[in-house]
Parts: sequence; C-alpha cells; structure tokens
Amino acid sequence: MKNILSKTFRFSCCALLLCFCYACSTSKKLTYYEFPKPIDTKEKAINYQTKKTYSFSEMGVYVSNEFDGARLNDCKMVDEHTIIATMSPENTPINASAYYAMQIWSDEAKTIQVILNYTEHKHRYLPKTSTNRKDWTWVDSTQFVVSPDEKQCTVTLPVSPTKTYLAAQELVTSTDVKAWCEALAKDDIYTIGKSKLGRDIDALQLGDFGKLKDAIVIMSRQHPPEVSGFFAMQAFVEEIMADTPLSKAFREKYVILVYPLINPDGVDLGHWRHSAGGIDLNRDWAFYHQPETRAVADDILGTTKAHNINVILGIDFHSTWHDVYYTMVDSLRSDIPKFKDYWLDGIEHRIEGYEVNEKPSGLRTPVSKGWFYAQFNAEGITYEIGDETDRDFIKLKGKVSAQEMMKLLVFKDSESRREMNVKHAEGGQ
Ligand SMILES: [Zn+2]
Repeated sequence: MKNILSKTFRFSCCALLLCFCYACSTSKKLTYYEFPKPIDTKEKAINYQTKKTYSFSEMGVYVSNEFDGARLNDCKMVDEHTIIATMSPENTPINASAYYAMQIWSDEAKTIQVILNYTEHKHRYLPKTSTNRKDWTWVDSTQFVVSPDEKQCTVTLPVSPTKTYLAAQELVTSTDVKAWCEALAKDDIYTIGKSKLGRDIDALQLGDFGKLKDAIVIMSRQHPPEVSGFFAMQAFVEEIMADTPLSKAFREKYVILVYPLINPDGVDLGHWRHSAGGIDLNRDWAFYHQPETRAVADDILGTTKAHNINVILGIDFHSTWHDVYYTMVDSLRSDIPKFKDYWLDGIEHRIEGYEVNEKPSGLRTPVSKGWFYAQFNAEGITYEIGDETDRDFIKLKGKVSAQEMMKLLVFKDSESRREMNVKHAEGGQ
C-alpha cells in the first residue's frame, strides 16, 4: 500500500511538474507571423553523393569529390583524352542552379577534355579553377563550349600532378565561414543551434544589449551555391566592424545580428539549393519545419524579446543571374519608411556609372524579406549579386552599401540626416 501511495504521489508530483513546465513554456512561447499562403516545407528525402576518387589508369587521370562543397555524382572515361563528369541535384523539383565542384589531377602534365554533364538540367555557372581554394581563375571563354541544349559544357583543362579544383563557384565551406567569423569578432560568436546533420549554426551578436533598442539583422547562404552574395555580405559586415568614426557611431547605436551561414549542411554537401531536409529554406519563414530556419527565427525573436529590442532592418544576401535589390512595395510601410529609397539612391550616387536594379514586391511567399516586415514591421531587403559579377566590384558595393546604410541610420531623425539628404539632392557627398 505504502508503495502504491508513494508511486501515486510521485506520479502526481511529476504531472504537476509537467503542467508547470508546460505553462512556463507556453507563457514564453514566441509569437510567429503566419503567412496566409505558406509553402509546404516538410522534410523531403535527398540523394547523397558517393564520396570517392575516380581513377582512370589508361589516362593517368584522377577525379575526386572527397572534400566539403564537392558536387560530382559520377565520372567516366569517354576516350583517352576525355572524361564525362555527371552532376545531379540533391532532389527535385529544384531551380536552375546546376552546381559542380571536383578535384582533378594526373600522373603527367597534359590537357584533357572534361564534359560537365547535368542530365536533364542546364549549365549555369562559368567554370573556375584553383589549386589552393583561395586564388581562383575563370576558365577562358575559348576553353569551354556549352552544348546547344545547354545540358553539357565541355572544358579544355590542363592537368598535372598538382590537384586542381574545377568548380562552379569559389569554395567557401562551413569551416571557412567559421574561420571568417573568428577572425572578425572572436568574442561575439554564438552557436545558436544545429543543422539537421549537426553542423553549428553560428551568429555574430554585436552591441550593448542592455542599452540599445534597435537592431539590424543580416543573413546569408540559405542557398548553398550563392557565394557571390556571401562575398557582398562579408564586405558589408566588415565595413560595419571597421575602425572608422561612422562604423563606431553605428555600433554604438545599433545591435547587429549576423547569421552568415544558414544552410551549412547544404554548403558542405555541395547542394544546388536545398537543406539536408531537402527544402528551400527561404520558403520556410512561416512554419519553420526545418531546424535551420527555426533556429535563426527563434534566436532573432528570443534575443530581441529578452532585451526589448526592435528589428528595424533585415538584409538577406543571395545570388542570382544579375545584381538586383528585391525591396518592399511602398504600400508596406515599415518603421523606417523611405529608407530604401535614400539608401539605393546613396549607393548609386557613390559608385560611378552604376545603376541600381530594384524590384519591389509584396508579401507573397514566406521568404525572409517578408518575414522581417511581417514579424517586426522592419524594412526587408533581399540583396542579390550576379553569379559572375566582378569580385572586386562586389566588395566595393558591399562596403559602400554598408556605409550608406550606416549614414542613414546613425543620422536617423536628426538634423544631420536632413542635411545629408539635401546634399544628396545637390549631388554632393
Ligand atoms: Zn538565393
């Protein structure tokens, strides 16, 4: 009897404790905006590459995908001068972003033909080579040819015993991004969650959380091959962190939340678009089915709620065919109305001969841009860089974009801002 009572008592205590915990968790439940027409982002299966080194002894040529960021699903010898490398995406349907990355070497120096074969998909990225993953060379346009149906691209490639990367874009893996974060702001890195396959999702959280009331949010690499957008994000954040009067003034006024790599699994697995859950993460800003989007949304909402901070601006860096700023239509009035007009005007004014390409849109699909507005009434911007935009220009534009943003937000609501806008109108700096 005593034993039964004891068990009942323990059960009641546990039940009470559970009820209490549940009450606590629901009272702390964060508020999410639900888009009226969400997209199904429940997990889908993906195909993994077989990691291996393909050896063609007749040619004395070797091809490998045994590194992070590789994409090579099969490789065969066609004749003694030619190999065919086949790439397929992680799953379908998928957008047109036929990414590839492999390492090639040979017993003796010679020139071979590499057929990049995308099966039913089309060639997109100009081939690039590197021997050290840092310095990249675009293959000369006379050295590759795309087939009339665009499903293959044949590259004439010098090979040697030195291993050469042949890739769609520069390799920037999760290890590289972590190293960049550590070099930039070692004391302000926080691992806010884990990806589906257990990789860290890191954030840089900067600013005086006890004092400051406004935040800007910066994101990148929801889509793995979008390296050019990542380069713009790097230049943008590096300028915010710079030792200049403007950057210091900005950091004294705003909290800065940076999520530089939202899809680390996709990046390291060499995905064309999706997460390890087989989903386009930038369609998951409604139900947060994927651990990556949920971790970032939880962190932004949790951090800002805990410190009573309001997000006023969110910029998400991506890549597409050409440079474009996807902005919000004027009818969506954020807490910083007109910001984007002044900002884009300022960028255009600063870069000689540059014309801003702006495409405003409303709240259609659950992308981060709309989420910034819906959740915080913040200005949301998708900052897109062309796949092949000149890398030095990307850095310049990223830096100038940061400077123009900081000028506007540091001088917000002040006489100085009005003066600055007058100067813009007059054509001065
Ligand atoms: Zn994208």
